[in-house]
Amino acid sequence: MHLISWKDTCKPKIYCGLSIPSIESLYYACGCNIAARGLSVGTSCAFCNSNFETQNHLFFECDFTFSILLRFLPRMQSMLFRPNLWQVYSDIEELDVTSNMKNYYFLSISAIVYFIWRSRNDRLFGNCSESVSAITSKIKRAVYLKIHRKKCFQDMLT
Ligand SMILES: [Zn+2]
Repeated sequence: MHLISWKDTCKPKIYCGLSIPSIESLYYACGCNIAARGLSVGTSCAFCNSNFETQNHLFFECDFTFSILLRFLPRMQSMLFRPNLWQVYSDIEELDVTSNMKNYYFLSISAIVYFIWRSRNDRLFGNCSESVSAITSKIKRAVYLKIHRKKCFQDMLT
């Protein structure tokens, strides 16, 4: 696992409620892994209904979730293959930007994962299907609420 260290004085304390290890644990909750344990659940993706729900499909091989990612990181469109979640984190780590900007991207990715997972559960268990735009708006709002009072992010908000 790629470790992320927060070197600056501005250290986001949470990733919208998800830490990196708990994001990893989502892997075990994906439909294909639950079905492998003998539990009766749907194994197809809740967003496209045309692929097995694996962690890599959910984050971000699926057209639906990839389109959410592109709204935050449009440069992912130029990658040869669709990135998985860990490749997105690795790509951000290698960006030639300030550490605050990296922290902003890490926070955004964590929020994306969180709201995709919530939307997936809403579709499976709540009979509620939100659009890419609705999910994107929730992610933007959550990230904004996390950073708008942090002094180190003020230059990004102006
Ligand atoms: Zn899908």
